[in-house]
Amino acid sequence: MPVNLTINGKAVQARAGQSVLEAARASGVHIPTLCHHADLSPVGACRLCVVEVEKMRGLVAACTLPVSEGMVVQTHTPKVIDERKFILEMLLTDHPNDCMTCQADGGCELQDAVYEYQVKWSEHKGKRHSYPIDGDPNPFIFTNFNKCILCTRCVRACAEIQGRNVWGVANRGFNDKIVAGADVTMLEAGCESCGACAAYCPTGALLDKPSRGKGREYQMKKVTTTCTYCGVGCQFDLNVRNGQVIKVTSNRNAAVNGMALCVKGRYGHEFIHHKDRLTKPLIKKDGTFVEATWDEALNLIAEKLGGCKGDQFAFLASAKATNEENYIFQKFTRTVMRTNSVDHCARL
Ligand code: SF4
Ligand code: SF4
Ligand code: SF4
Repeated sequence: MPVNLTINGKAVQARAGQSVLEAARASGVHIPTLCHHADLSPVGACRLCVVEVEKMRGLVAACTLPVSEGMVVQTHTPKVIDERKFILEMLLTDHPNDCMTCQADGGCELQDAVYEYQVKWSEHKGKRHSYPIDGDPNPFIFTNFNKCILCTRCVRACAEIQGRNVWGVANRGFNDKIVAGADVTMLEAGCESCGACAAYCPTGALLDKPSRGKGREYQMKKVTTTCTYCGVGCQFDLNVRNGQVIKVTSNRNAAVNGMALCVKGRYGHEFIHHKDRLTKPLIKKDGTFVEATWDEALNLIAEKLGGCKGDQFAFLASAKATNEENYIFQKFTRTVMRTNSVDHCARL
C-alpha cells in the first residue's frame, strides 16, 4: 500500500517502510546528510537531515523517521537551515582547517555540506583533538581521526558489509573516538584490508594510503572495468591520471559487488605499470625467449594451431577472464578449431 504524504507542499507517494529522507530524495528534494549512506543501516547520528513535521515536537532526523499517511514535512524552513548551520559550525570547531592539502578535497561530504550552507571556519579557542596522523601501521588505510566526525559509517561498513566488526566507538562525550578492536592496531583487530571503511568515510579521516598525494579527485578520470583477479567478476573504477592508474575506487552501480571489494581488487593494481611486465611478445628461439613483433607472434600461433586437427586441440577457460572473453574462446574452439573440448576451471 502506498503512503501519501506532503513534502514542501507537494503531494508525494512513498512505499510503506521508507524513511522521510528516502521519500524526499525519490521525489527530487535534496536533504543533506553525513552519517547516512543508502547501503548502511540508518542511525540518525549527525542530525544534518533534520526536518520539521506537522504535529511533531522539535526537529526530527529524516533518515530514521518512517513515512506515515497524511504526514506533512518541511525540509528547508529557516529553523531547519539554522539547525544545519549550527551542526556544521560545531563540527568545524574540532576539525583541522586543512582542505587545501587534504587528499579528500573535492570528494569530501563535509566540505560539500559546509559549502552548501556557507558555514565559516570559526576561530575556535576551545579544546581540540590531537590524534596521531597515520597512527596505524597497516599498509593500506591511512588514518587521521582529527578529521573524524564520528558518523560511524566505517563501523557500519566493516560490520554490515565486510562482516569483520573491526571498528567501534570508545569513551563518552568529547572523548568519543573510533577505535579498532580494544584500541589496538587494525590488523590486530582482524582487519582484512578490504578498504570498505575508507570507501564509506565521508571525510579525510580514512583514506587509501597507497594513492595519497598522487592526484586530486578532479584530476583523475574514472574508467569502469572488471577485476582480473578471480571469477567473481567485481566491477570498480580505475582512477587514471596522465595515463597512469593511481587508485581503484568502488562503483556503487556494480551489479555483482556494489561498493564491496577485496584487498587484491582495491589495492593490488601496481602490476599494471610494473617494469617486469611484458609489453612485447616473446618467441622461443634455440631455447631462449626473444622479443618479436605482434605480426610475427600471431603468424606463429596461427601456423601452429593450423597444424592441429579436431581433438588434438583442447581449450581450458580461465575464471580470471571475463564472461565475454571466455565466450569468444569457446566460440573460437568450436567454430575454428572444430572441437567441443572446452572446459573451465570453475566447473571442477
Ligand atoms: S576532511 Fe574534508 S573538510 Fe576536512 S580538511 Fe579534508 S577536505 Fe576539508
Ligand atoms: S579495511 Fe575492511 S576489514 Fe579492515 S577495518 Fe576497514 S572495512 Fe574493516
Ligand atoms: S573515520 Fe570516517 S567513517 Fe569513521 S566515524 Fe570518522 S568520519 Fe565517519
